[in-house]
Amino acid sequence: MSLVGKNIDAFCLRCQLTLAHIVLYEVAGAVHSVKCKTCGAEHRYRGPKPAKKREVPAERRPGGRLGSAAKPNPVRPADARQWELRSAEQPPDAAIWDYRLSESYEKGDIIAHAHFGRGFVEQVTADRMEVLFKEGRKQLAMNRRPVDAGTE
Ligand SMILES: [Zn+2]
Repeated sequence: MSLVGKNIDAFCLRCQLTLAHIVLYEVAGAVHSVKCKTCGAEHRYRGPKPAKKREVPAERRPGGRLGSAAKPNPVRPADARQWELRSAEQPPDAAIWDYRLSESYEKGDIIAHAHFGRGFVEQVTADRMEVLFKEGRKQLAMNRRPVDAGTE
């Protein structure tokens, strides 16, 4: 369940008051950044009072854990935020298509890519599309017949 777009009380540095804010972006279910409804300033969420810091255990999964070696790739904040918004808006019964080079997709389609995860198709041409993934926008080929792949 997404918090994006919800109202939340937070301390605004510009107003120097605890005021109503709108959640802009969340990370792992926690509010990350908010927008002040009074002055419009966007900033990191700090909460009405300073909360006690909690150590988040590193995610454990086969093949490696988050920590010293594997750093996540940097994400352009605008793209990541848009991806979060699109994910929040997505109807629960939306069709998600596996990405295949030979298939053709339409603007508004949701695809599942083996490496980049869920993506939202934003623009299409005859054989290419621009897809918004969590880690940014990517150009992907589509509607290519494997037999003809090299004959452009
Ligand atoms: Zn403010």
